[in-house]
Amino acid sequence: MKGCLNKSMKNSRFNNIVQRDDNLLIFNSKSKRFVKIPKNIFEKEDKNSKIQDKLIDAGIMMQENVDETMDLSFEYYQYIYDSTLRLTILASEECNFRCSYCYEKFERGNISSEVCEDLIIWLRKNIKNYTAVEISWFGGEPLLGIKQIEYLSTAFREICSQAKRPYHANITTNAYLLSDRMLGILLKNKIKSFTITLDGIEATHDKYRILQNGRGTFERILNNLRNIRDNCKVRDISINIRCNLTKDTLEVVEDYSKLMHNEFYEDRRFSFFFRPAGDWGGERVKEIGSKLIKSLDLFYEGIIKASEKYPMNFSIYGALLMDGRCNSSKKNYYVIGSSGLVYKCTVLFERPENRIGVLTKDGKMLINQEKHTKWIFGNEESWMKSCDNCPFTYSCFDRTCPAKGWILTERGRCGYEKSAMTSILYLLDNQDYFEEVGIQK
Ligand code: SF4
Ligand code: SF4
Repeated sequence: MKGCLNKSMKNSRFNNIVQRDDNLLIFNSKSKRFVKIPKNIFEKEDKNSKIQDKLIDAGIMMQENVDETMDLSFEYYQYIYDSTLRLTILASEECNFRCSYCYEKFERGNISSEVCEDLIIWLRKNIKNYTAVEISWFGGEPLLGIKQIEYLSTAFREICSQAKRPYHANITTNAYLLSDRMLGILLKNKIKSFTITLDGIEATHDKYRILQNGRGTFERILNNLRNIRDNCKVRDISINIRCNLTKDTLEVVEDYSKLMHNEFYEDRRFSFFFRPAGDWGGERVKEIGSKLIKSLDLFYEGIIKASEKYPMNFSIYGALLMDGRCNSSKKNYYVIGSSGLVYKCTVLFERPENRIGVLTKDGKMLINQEKHTKWIFGNEESWMKSCDNCPFTYSCFDRTCPAKGWILTERGRCGYEKSAMTSILYLLDNQDYFEEVGIQK
């Protein structure tokens, strides 16, 4: 991209630039700023000083002598050695659903009381090593283990409060059991962020996301979400609705967008994102193999069109662009299984590489450091070289999926967001997400 030929200034090499009509949509992965600017203004050699100042402030332009990559390694290691303790806890490895693409085997149930005690002892002993604690409740379906969530949350909050460490929590749930009472328990225990899946409209969702007895689940989940919208007075929560797209759901994306727009657009606590349903392993997914989507472009085209007609809050894509890395490359991140096994990844439970340790009775976490190191550093030696000219580096550092290359050998190098940059910036533009510079109203 041409532009900014002023001798003493240059454009950031971390600008991800997409043209839309006469404007450029720019996301800078280092400054994390989103700027929309007319193409002719951006490419003008002598920019008006106000425009130039705004671009400098947004990290889009800078003095020629600035070395933008000076802190690249620092940022990389800071992420890896982040001093927050992050635990994903499988409160229940059982599930009330049997989704067509689910990779889980449901061989273990709720987290045992012994494991709960071991975890509490371990945290009490080790809290001094961390500056904050963030718990992600996961499953199976974590709400099947609500008693354990309550019990552990109470103990964790007490430990953090005594040690003066901030405590945050979130949950990934299918939301079938997310009644008023359940929501009250979760909020009381500081669980403020919810990731919930709706696979399109009722007809498609109920084809893929069914109960163990084969019955549909859409209506009840939608009613639980409406209940949050209408009756939950807590404003600082986020409800992130994920839609797993297959060829079927892609066909109804306009109906889905219309429904979500009508129901939730006014309530900014709800935000939406799409991901292609994939072959994440297991046997069940083989039955829907022909329904899986291969091309990302095809999948976004319909969503962009639908969102022009029925705007939705896509701000979660902004967050995904700002940080596209997977927690499993962090040293202080562990996935705790219901039987006390310690993992790094929430997908590859059956892989021995993913079983990195175990919790023991006397409050110890025995970790195989060799395996753990592989998750943290993986293909570190190569990343600086192969990602050298990538403008997305500061959001990715080649850590979008630390399992790729050595466990997931087929997986492509870059993550969903980088691969779909044009479409995602269009979606964010459709909801006026960008700071506008030099745009005439
Ligand atoms: S390591 Fe890869 S497969 Fe595992 S949770 Fe992270 S992104 Fe997903
Ligand atoms: S993995 Fe891909 S998106 Fe990430 S920094 Fe490397 S080239 Fe860029």
